[in-house]
Amino acid sequence: MNIDLEAEKKEILRQYRGLLRATKYSKSKEDKALIRKAFNVALEAHKDQRRKTGEPYIYHPIAVARIVAEEIGLGTTAIVCALLHDTVEDTDITLDDIEKMFGQKVSQIIDGLTKISEIEDISNSIQAENFKKILLTLSEDVRVILIKIADRLHNMRTLDSMKREKQLKIASETLFLYAPLAHRLGLHSIKSELEDLSLKYTEPEAYNEIVQKLKKSQAVRTRFINKFSLPIKKALEEQGFKFTIKGRTKSVYSIWNKMKKKQIPFEEVYDVFAIRIIIDSPPEREKSDCWRVYSIVTDFYQPNPDRLRDWISIPKANGYESLHATVMSPTGKWVEVQIRTTRMDEVAEKGFAAHWKYKENNAESQLDAWLVQIREILEQAAKDENAIEFIDDFKLNLFDDEIFVFTPKGDMYNLAKGATALDFAFHIHTQVGYHCMGAKVNGKLVPISHKLRSGDQVEIITSKKQKPKEDWLKYVVTGRAKSKIKQALKEHKKELAKEGKAMLDRKFKHMGVHLTEENYMTLTKFYKLTTPLDLFYQIAISKINLHHFPKHEVKLGKLILVKEQKAVKENNDFKDILKIKGKTDDTLVIGEDMQKFDYTLAKCCNPIPGDEVFGFITINDGIKIHKTTCPNAVQLLSNYAYRVVKARWTSQEQIAFLAGIKITGLDKVGIVNEITRIISNELNVNMRSISFDSNDGIFEGKIMVFVHDTFHLDNLMKKLRNVEGVIQVMRIENV
Ligand code: MN
Repeated sequence: MNIDLEAEKKEILRQYRGLLRATKYSKSKEDKALIRKAFNVALEAHKDQRRKTGEPYIYHPIAVARIVAEEIGLGTTAIVCALLHDTVEDTDITLDDIEKMFGQKVSQIIDGLTKISEIEDISNSIQAENFKKILLTLSEDVRVILIKIADRLHNMRTLDSMKREKQLKIASETLFLYAPLAHRLGLHSIKSELEDLSLKYTEPEAYNEIVQKLKKSQAVRTRFINKFSLPIKKALEEQGFKFTIKGRTKSVYSIWNKMKKKQIPFEEVYDVFAIRIIIDSPPEREKSDCWRVYSIVTDFYQPNPDRLRDWISIPKANGYESLHATVMSPTGKWVEVQIRTTRMDEVAEKGFAAHWKYKENNAESQLDAWLVQIREILEQAAKDENAIEFIDDFKLNLFDDEIFVFTPKGDMYNLAKGATALDFAFHIHTQVGYHCMGAKVNGKLVPISHKLRSGDQVEIITSKKQKPKEDWLKYVVTGRAKSKIKQALKEHKKELAKEGKAMLDRKFKHMGVHLTEENYMTLTKFYKLTTPLDLFYQIAISKINLHHFPKHEVKLGKLILVKEQKAVKENNDFKDILKIKGKTDDTLVIGEDMQKFDYTLAKCCNPIPGDEVFGFITINDGIKIHKTTCPNAVQLLSNYAYRVVKARWTSQEQIAFLAGIKITGLDKVGIVNEITRIISNELNVNMRSISFDSNDGIFEGKIMVFVHDTFHLDNLMKKLRNVEGVIQVMRIENV
């Protein structure tokens, strides 16, 4: 190949000058000198390297630095780091060299970036494990994340020259991790571009089809937008606004996503574009000006009140501010109108970095708070073995849909959509989460699993006696709550396992079996468990009964099990349920929901069924039930009315009895779903527990339900027999 070195040199300088023009916030002499120095170091270090495209390698760091400056809006340190980001990884330059030349901060960031590249290079290891490591590195300095995103963006923009295999790997990684990260950091345009580029390589046909259709419909769209905007434009001018109106087309990726989610063709995606009105407005008038524009828009077009979104009064957690309205056009088409100021627009496009420019909304401390939270989750999760679970939990924290709820004092919290009272409790404080019994939402008592909605006012009710339980994991959606619950369960399990080990050790000694790891493992494997810890735990909770020890021999202290025998585990689930049943016999209805609250009877008045009673939420002891004639009642009711909840004994016919049902059938997709749907939706029966086992295409399920009487139970069983695939439904006696 013939390379014109002179021309290349010119091109490098041209690109470097482009970078300098883009560095809006590095205008001092010192800043410029530092950038120049970094450029020279990088140029020299990469001088013999070329990219896959055949171009000089230095094009890449210059481009990354330019993205960092121009599209993310970062300052000198980040630009210097971006220029140097591949030097330690790919050239002879060491971290020490960097530190000597550019100081500790720069070398620290470069170190983070180098670690990520090293992880990314291990091509054959499990991906999730790598992501975990990447995320751990990312949380060190937020600039590491931002530069890494810029690096990824440039690689995506130049992905054409890579092998197909590599393209797919990089594109799916981007979709999986970097786009959500960019989104969480408020880098909206980068996020969209990353998604579009990923789609281009993972689903080239779908991508091209949408691009073509967008092109074809462009002229019609432009005409529509012009016509639609005309009266608004005139009115805004008359009122003296400085503004721009743009028609913004949805990204290819989000159109594709909508088509897929709703199973509709391109033509039926009605919100392919939005109208954006950007006004110049001084900080103190931003909000009122935006609403004035809203008022002008709705003078011409009828708004849909259900689709008004005010992210100016309450910005999204990633910093996004805007006023969104959906209005009806004269042709009967719904059109989304986004109203915002120049500042809001820049923040929306560039994210947190743009906040720094405007030096307000303490964006930096918001970002810090987020990083602290992420770091906490990461550190906790890093101890767990299961990387995939970890990534899932982590990604929950990157999802865009969020709600905001308030404490009684009016403090606001952002939570992921679908978050429950229990999630909220963990967000207030870990200890509040651990002892959460329920909550009062807008003054009404609700169970811990209650899903919160935006605007709810939430007060958590705690009890010292309350402890995290296994099924809590089903009630939470936030990574924070999940990891805290898992941690608590693990500790609890370890405690119990100690007892189980002591029991087993006594048994072993009695049998003449040595207390060796090997012997523990023999038994662990026999019960198809993974670690001796699991074994000890199961012994402690009586799932494994040492009185029914499997057939064995002991040779010189070694435990040898007789082959071909089946492990028998005790089924204690149902015994537990019976115990609980004993407690709920004296059925008491508290608040709106009957089964989900623990309560104790107050000692001062000892209420019994039939008495008129009320519940009182104590600070440390959960809900106490008092008679209305209790000597303390007047004082409690008058001074602490807000802590009083309604309670009454139920009449006989409302008492629910616990019954067990066994179902066998063909193990096919959706059958469990159908069964639970019938139980909970169609017949409104409360389920106490459900377990399914499947073997060779046949499943066996045990369900414990609360029913009123045999008629109720028979009716339920009849319905279950009618489910396609169910072979047998029978009542379990003597559970
Ligand atoms: Mn790079």
